[in-house]
Amino acid sequence: MRLSKATGAAFSICLVMAAGGVLMSGCSSGGERKEQAAAKPAGPQPLPEGMTRSEFGRTQEGERVELYVLENRNGMIAKITTYGAIITELHVPGRGGSKGNVVLGFENLDGYLKGHPYFGAIVGRVGNRIAKGRFTLDGAVYKLATNNGPNHLHGGVKGFDKRVWSAEPVTGAGGPALKLTCVSPDGEEGYPGTLTSTVVYTLTGDNGILIELTAVTDKATPVNLTNHTYFNLAGPGSGDILGHELKIDADRYVPVDAALIPTGALAGVRGTPMDFTSPMTIGARIAKVEGGYDHCYVFTKGTTPEPAPVIRVREPGSGRAMEVLTTEPGVQLYTGNFLDGTIAGIGGVYKKHFGFCLETQHFPDAVNQPSFPSVVLRPGQTYRHVTVYRFSVE
Ligand code: BGC
Repeated sequence: MRLSKATGAAFSICLVMAAGGVLMSGCSSGGERKEQAAAKPAGPQPLPEGMTRSEFGRTQEGERVELYVLENRNGMIAKITTYGAIITELHVPGRGGSKGNVVLGFENLDGYLKGHPYFGAIVGRVGNRIAKGRFTLDGAVYKLATNNGPNHLHGGVKGFDKRVWSAEPVTGAGGPALKLTCVSPDGEEGYPGTLTSTVVYTLTGDNGILIELTAVTDKATPVNLTNHTYFNLAGPGSGDILGHELKIDADRYVPVDAALIPTGALAGVRGTPMDFTSPMTIGARIAKVEGGYDHCYVFTKGTTPEPAPVIRVREPGSGRAMEVLTTEPGVQLYTGNFLDGTIAGIGGVYKKHFGFCLETQHFPDAVNQPSFPSVVLRPGQTYRHVTVYRFSVE
C-alpha cells in the first residue's frame, strides 16, 4: 500500500496511539483537519506537514490545553503538550524497525494535573535548587517561593512546568518544529523582571529532538531553563534503568550536602562511583552513592556556542542508544530516586529508578555561588540553550 506522505503520517500516528491503548474517535479523519475546515481565515494557523493538534484537556481554571504530535520523515514521533511544554511521549526506532516510546508520562492531562515529578517538562525560571530560596542581585535581596523543604526547586510552587504555554508551529531546519512561549510576570515566585521564554522543539532528520530555549527580560534576573524528561530506552514501565550504560564527558561534578545544595566546590570524578568518563552501567556503583545519582556533572568542554556531544547512553536489551549534545556547561543526572510506585503512567507503575533524567543546565544554586558560571540575564541580552537528544539502534 502506498500512502501519500500526509496520509502516511496520520496513519502511523493512529497506529501508535492504538498500540498505546489510546482511543481516538475519528483519528483517520483527524480532529485538527475538522478544526481547520471550520476555521475562518483568522482562525488557527494551518499546520505544516508532519504535525497534528488536538485538545488535551482543560486546567482547573478552564484553560484549554493542546497536544501536538510531530512526526519526522523516518516516523519518529514526539507528543508535546502546551501544559508545561511537556514532552508526553517520544517514539524512536528500535531493533528490526519497530518503534517505541522511551519517556515517562501520561496519556491525558489529568495525570499531569494530579501532580508529578516534572515528567518531560520545561522547568524554570531557574531549574534545580536555590538554597533557602534567597539570593542577592545588584544589592537587592530576593526571597523566592520555597517548595523543597527550606529551598527553592525548579522555579517554585507554580513553575513553568505548570503554566500553559502558547504554541506556534514553525518551520524547523530538519523537520517539524513547534515553538512554545511563556511570559512570566515581574515578581512571579519572587523573581524580578518580566521574563519571556521560548522553547522550540524540532524533530531532526537524523532522529534527534532538538530543544532550543531562549529568554529575554526587562530586569536582571537569574535564568536556568532545562527539560526534565525521564528516559527509559527499553520503554516506560519496563523495569528499572540500572542496566543502561552511560558515558558522560565530565571529569568533575558538583558535590552537595544532605539537602542536595552545593557545597561550593567542584570535585574530580576519577576513582569514585561518580565517574562515567568510560561507559559504565548506571547500576554498577549506585549503591555507593547515598540516595542514588542526583548530581550535576561539569562537562570537560565547558559552555559552547553550539551543541557539542557530551553524553552517550545504551540500553543493551532494546539495542537503543541516545546521544546528548548541548551548549550548556553541566547536566543533572537524576536516576528517579524518588519514584516510589505511587504514580502510574504510560506503560504502568513507575517505581524507584524506572527512569533517568539528563537535565542539561548551569550549575545548581549558581546565583549564590560566585565561583560558578553566572546565570544572571540582563535586559538587552538573550539567554540561549540548545540541547539535542539523538536516537539510534545498534
Ligand atoms: C532533582 C531531584 C528531584 C527531581 C524531581 C530533579 O531535577 O535533582 O532532586 O527530586 O528533579 O523533582
